[in-house]
Amino acid sequence: MPELPEVESTRRHLAPVIEGHRIDRIEVGHPRMLRRQPRPADFVDRSRGRAVVSTDRRGKFMLWHLDGDLTIVVHLGMSGRMQVVPFDEVPARHAHVRWRVGDREVRLVDPRTFGFVACLTDGELDDVLSGIGRDALTDLPTVGEIAPTLAGRTAPIKALLLDQRIVAGLGNIYVDEVLHEAAVAPMRPAGSLEARELGAVLRAIPGILEAALRGGGTSLDDLAYLLPDGRAGEYVATLGAYGREGEPCRRCGGTIVRTVLAQRSTHWCPDCQH
Ligand SMILES: [Zn+2]
Repeated sequence: MPELPEVESTRRHLAPVIEGHRIDRIEVGHPRMLRRQPRPADFVDRSRGRAVVSTDRRGKFMLWHLDGDLTIVVHLGMSGRMQVVPFDEVPARHAHVRWRVGDREVRLVDPRTFGFVACLTDGELDDVLSGIGRDALTDLPTVGEIAPTLAGRTAPIKALLLDQRIVAGLGNIYVDEVLHEAAVAPMRPAGSLEARELGAVLRAIPGILEAALRGGGTSLDDLAYLLPDGRAGEYVATLGAYGREGEPCRRCGGTIVRTVLAQRSTHWCPDCQH
């Protein structure tokens, strides 16, 4: 599933293609992609012919700000990715939303259709983002700010780091990476972490996200996530825990194990994560 580094890598690749350019044509091939648009017909009507003024991101939500105080929201869901191709290229399967911009076409390819798009007024955008917590890359809370939220919580720290209402942008891969880097076991009750451990978790987040961004994100074997130009994200070679079941821990030489936690595949090192 695309997480913050994949969404942000995608946004950065799309920015020079769409910023300052007008959206000439829009086609939506799957009505499910518009399920978050209050009136589905508004999506095309509102955004066609408008220029993309700037792009932004909040957690896993990509935002394209248009002239006229409207914003296109793109969420990649479980398996979505963006593509930029010449406008006359034959549409790929599952290219459910297509924007013509100049002589190029920007596509949302989403086989499982858990992603969505919407074109929203500022008020509607506030509603969509109202439950979303602080951004893990640009607005990470301090230990003092997050400790009260975790105090007394018996849910595993992993589950709370996945909760987009607390910190937005982390998913299964990067939570495992952060907890490995911080040497904290993923099943620890969140409220049991000492300030020192919580500090290690928060300190690990920017370094891992920045490194993943430099690699263009993580493309796993299924290649569900690719950059808009079709290249794979290269961070997979740098992963410390995720997907490394049975392989030696890069820190202590122990063996990375896989368990299921909060219904999610979880990779960690029992020898050095406590
Ligand atoms: Zn280890």
